[in-house]
Amino acid sequence: MSLEFEKQRRREVRPTDQPPEGATSADAKPVISFAPAKPGKAPAHLADVDAKGRKQVLKDLGLPGFRADQLSRHYFDHFEADPAKMSDIPASMHDAIREGLLPELVRQVVAQHADGGMTIKHLWELFDGARVESVLMRYPQRTTLCISSQAGCGMACPFCATGQMGLTRNLSTGEIVDQVRQAQIACRDGELPGGPTHLSNVVFMGMGEPLANYRTVVNTLRRLIDPSPEGFGLSARNVTVSTVGLVPAIDKLAKEGMPVTLAVSLHAPDDDLRDELIPINSRWKVGELLDAARRYFVATGRRVSIEYALIKDMNDQEYRAQLLADELNKRGHGWAHVNPIPLNPTPGTIWTASTRRAQDTFVATLRNNGISTTIRDTRGSDIDGACGQLATAVKEANAKRRSINSDSTSIQETR
Ligand code: SF4
Repeated sequence: MSLEFEKQRRREVRPTDQPPEGATSADAKPVISFAPAKPGKAPAHLADVDAKGRKQVLKDLGLPGFRADQLSRHYFDHFEADPAKMSDIPASMHDAIREGLLPELVRQVVAQHADGGMTIKHLWELFDGARVESVLMRYPQRTTLCISSQAGCGMACPFCATGQMGLTRNLSTGEIVDQVRQAQIACRDGELPGGPTHLSNVVFMGMGEPLANYRTVVNTLRRLIDPSPEGFGLSARNVTVSTVGLVPAIDKLAKEGMPVTLAVSLHAPDDDLRDELIPINSRWKVGELLDAARRYFVATGRRVSIEYALIKDMNDQEYRAQLLADELNKRGHGWAHVNPIPLNPTPGTIWTASTRRAQDTFVATLRNNGISTTIRDTRGSDIDGACGQLATAVKEANAKRRSINSDSTSIQETR
């Protein structure tokens, strides 16, 4: 290592220099968990099953199977979930359908508007009182929804308050899909400035590690991608599954035959730092993770996104950019795209913005080594931003500070 690189190492900030975000004690340690604290099951929903399954549910309810197609088209084409508003469904069937296929699964608690209304963050309450978020963001060329796949999260990343809450439970397919339906309504009804629009992109970057709720997330992907009446018919390439690195699940996903985009929240190219920054790295190391990401590319033809939040003096050194480039290049060329994510400055925390100089050097080092690299916008928790939570946590810290000084963000309580 050169003298300059040695100097960079001596200035390093470590994730352990501060208790985890949201920790209740100063000596709190990350505890990874795959077991939900409250393993409740959401009421069964039309989106949980495919067309055949819906027919069977109707038959079990004593209703004709052909209604499945009608109900599915109302739900996936017109985003309607209230049988009373479906003119071709007899009133005598409404209660049974509501109970057996279309229970209300996500109820809005709060809608928070930011970025001039172009970002809407929703807080949803589920049947058992658990709460999750989704974020809808309109851009000139696309409208993206960031969704939650779990209530809480068991991955215990130290920068993420959700991670310190632990895993409450996995969401059901219906609970995830209904976040998308709600966003479809907001787009259609022109709730974002600029008039009605279409939801084009969905990213699994809200609460939770999607691949830790594997079967449900794969089922959800089918509902998002399959055309009506099976699902919403979104383009697979516009759906992104983000992971902190559950290697066996990445390999499984590669074999599902759905060319969705895989985003790896890497944030460090070396095990020394990543073991502290992303605790699951103690189970699957950087090398194993990048090998799996490369296999995903080979199996699907989809270039993998490598998400890398630039944190001042922690992971933003030139030598780490070089190491990242080396790790990617030794597995081939053109298979991965790096998205460095600039954080907002947050004085008083170790999770703060790199200097502009460090950011420029990091990006130039990657590009000089032939790595395709795009600095990402951190609006909301857009993926094109990362496992979102780091960008979001920092953004929220800033928002709290801003709200003391101004009233630039409006919050609507809806109950
Ligand atoms: S950053 Fe993502 S994976 Fe890590 S604890 Fe938070 S929600 Fe879970």
